[in-house]
Amino acid sequence: MTALIILLLFIIGACLGSFFNVLIDRIPRHESIVKPGSHCTNCGKPIPFSKNIPIISYIVLKGRCNYCGAKIHWHHLVVEIITPVLFIALYLVYGLSLNFLNFALMTCFLIPIFFIDAFHKIIPLVLSIPMAITGLLLGLIRCGFNFKDFSLIFLLPVLLLFAFLYLLALLWIKLFHREGLGGGDVILIPAVGAFFGVIHIPWVILLACILGLLYFLIFVRKPNQGFAFGNIVALASAIWMLIGDKFLQAIGWFL
Ligand SMILES: [Zn+2]
Repeated sequence: MTALIILLLFIIGACLGSFFNVLIDRIPRHESIVKPGSHCTNCGKPIPFSKNIPIISYIVLKGRCNYCGAKIHWHHLVVEIITPVLFIALYLVYGLSLNFLNFALMTCFLIPIFFIDAFHKIIPLVLSIPMAITGLLLGLIRCGFNFKDFSLIFLLPVLLLFAFLYLLALLWIKLFHREGLGGGDVILIPAVGAFFGVIHIPWVILLACILGLLYFLIFVRKPNQGFAFGNIVALASAIWMLIGDKFLQAIGWFL
């Protein structure tokens, strides 16, 4: 049974990954994500279903368009692999549970956000706002539709976190005359908080800062060369959803 579920999660994840690639390519260009169907961005030829099978097509075609030979960006293969891998990892941690559904849906937003922020340094509102709403709706379900619990545990803390970050971003601009916290981060962090519960956010931010510092030490050569904090928050969230509970238990921190 477990093997069958893993196989199913792999297929679903790879197909969703293929869809996320469409989002990653088209949202920054303000193109429709439905029409036209899959096509080569170089020669414009439509890609038939038989040449559009997740993972397999990329490998068979050696990452090139079947017609014009133009290179297909490596993110296509990476996204089609990491999406099912994260789904399977979540299943192994949480089983088929509400927590699994919660974090699988968070993953569906984090992956396109991670790559769009990495390539374009933007976190599109068409992703971050639906992400926050989805997280809050799942919070309502996790509270058994008890609106009072939901308000106290999810809704109010998420709104307060948003207000705090928004004021922090404004203050930063006033004091330093440049953007410190990007507009996208101001929504992404509360959205992540909606899935985790805001109480986890300090840990996610701490992890993001450690990853950011490592990235800075390894890759950034010029001190004023900025990097997108949003994708590091997305990466930290993906790590925290897999190890957060275990880590907190290990250090004796019970929620
Ligand atoms: Zn082509």
